[in-house]
Amino acid sequence: MTVFKSKRELQQFALNARRAGKTIGLVPTMGYLHAGHTSLIDIAREKSDIVIVSIFVNPTQFAPTEDLDRYPRDFAHDLELCREHRADVIFAPEPGEMYDADASTWVNETMLSRPLCGASRPTFFRGVTTVVSKLFLLAQPDLAVFGLKDAQQLFVVRRMVRDLDFPIEIIAAPLVRDDDGLALSSRNRYLSEDERTRALSIHKTLLKCKAAILADGLAAAPRILEAGKADITAAGGKVDYLEVLDSADLEAPDGETKEVLLAAAAFFGTTRLIDNELFEVKG
Ligand code: AMP
Repeated sequence: MTVFKSKRELQQFALNARRAGKTIGLVPTMGYLHAGHTSLIDIAREKSDIVIVSIFVNPTQFAPTEDLDRYPRDFAHDLELCREHRADVIFAPEPGEMYDADASTWVNETMLSRPLCGASRPTFFRGVTTVVSKLFLLAQPDLAVFGLKDAQQLFVVRRMVRDLDFPIEIIAAPLVRDDDGLALSSRNRYLSEDERTRALSIHKTLLKCKAAILADGLAAAPRILEAGKADITAAGGKVDYLEVLDSADLEAPDGETKEVLLAAAAFFGTTRLIDNELFEVKG
């Protein structure tokens, strides 16, 4: 396994590999890897000759008030997991390597990135689409794997790839949970034992709302979501959003809707957690 810290080294390696006829699978991450991330690496491993994992806590997707400086890091453990899951290349640039100090070019998706996390984190997706575009140009992948844990991010990246004609297949990986239902996230590390127990209410509420929507129909969604928010609040969470949207366009569902994204974001203490359920509806 090779670790590249420099953009040019990675790009040279990737261009040479492509010229030699190898296929490349990319797994972009912010490190502090867990079983959610390694499930993405396993998918890339199965589908490509060369697996590149990027580990980069991307400053442009954090607002000044957010947790960039305290975002958890454990590079040695990340390398161990990548080795175990047979990654070939780790790309771990310093922020100064990734962005020039006077960088002034952004990639901006303007529709799917508006609701949900885009509403509460207005510059988040611009940071994501910009860094993912850069990673695509550096790692030259045939395919890239993204987790459904961040379903909106996956949809935004898919739209960007379609709109900008990146010749890259985007693969969706299932959301990986702990045995008790908590969605795995590097940010779970911030939670006290008590907060972690309370945070289980997010997934419980999603399941309850999903069952109610399937039983009573989408017309009943406003009432169901209000009750869901009350449940998370009663568990000690501060709800950022709990919404159900058409997964095709992230707009309000209508008669044409086939599949919905039921998505939640809530704070437990100072930690903001997100989770979702994606499921088919009758319309
Ligand atoms: P992050 O390091 O949080 O930026 O995540 C990197 C990639 O791993 C993204 O595509 C995430 O959606 C994915 N990911 C993170 N947590 C999970 C999880 N619990 N299940 C599936 N994929 C995940």
